[in-house]
Amino acid sequence: MSRILVVEDEQHLAEGLRYNLESEGYEVAVAESGEVALEMLAKEPPAFDIVVLDVMLPGKDGFTVMAEMRRAGQFVPTLMLTARGHADDILRGFDAGADDYLAKPFELKILIARIQGLLRRREWLRSAPPSPPGNNGLKNVYEFAGKRVNFDLLELQSAGQAVPLTLMEANVLRYLIEHEGTPVSRKSMLENVWGLHEDTDTRAIDNFIVRLRKLIEDDPAHPKHLVTVRGVGYKFLSSTAPAG
Ligand code: CA
Repeated sequence: MSRILVVEDEQHLAEGLRYNLESEGYEVAVAESGEVALEMLAKEPPAFDIVVLDVMLPGKDGFTVMAEMRRAGQFVPTLMLTARGHADDILRGFDAGADDYLAKPFELKILIARIQGLLRRREWLRSAPPSPPGNNGLKNVYEFAGKRVNFDLLELQSAGQAVPLTLMEANVLRYLIEHEGTPVSRKSMLENVWGLHEDTDTRAIDNFIVRLRKLIEDDPAHPKHLVTVRGVGYKFLSSTAPAG
């Protein structure tokens, strides 16, 4: 049974979510503030598979909680609830490390679909490894240019250091790796990685690419692996050797 932590201070909303998510078969805990949520998330072993995090909270707001979670090494997939009409909230949320978002007010069935989507993508990462050349035979590990992406651990290993990836960073990277050498549009990434078909601001993708470049590029200002394709989007190149 998947366990969900709902972080929401408005009691009627929190209890409504609890009731409805429980009736869908999830185990649900509610935290009424970000501070309480951070304490619950810090417990070992990790008690939750998904976090639903409201932006509007007393004390620490959702963005702060999100950023503190990631800084503390908690990489549980997180869906943020943002205020409708605040496009910047979405970018701020992704910037802080959110995996997905939903604008309030939302339909319950949409929330459940998004939660299922996050759980499914986490399973997909763990179950169906890409097997490109250079793969050393380890399950769910992809190696390129002296770097190693471990999709099981959601971790990038480079120069003897291991850096954790969020679910969506790993998904974006994986999607690009699977299309190695082929330009991938921002729209197709939003559709295939997030399952978003609505008119979402595609700058969210650019933010993920900026973060990934900091992790995998020797010189992020002059990327050799996550290359911009003007007018289209991005493409991944495993080798930095000139083509042809
Ligand atoms: Ca709230």
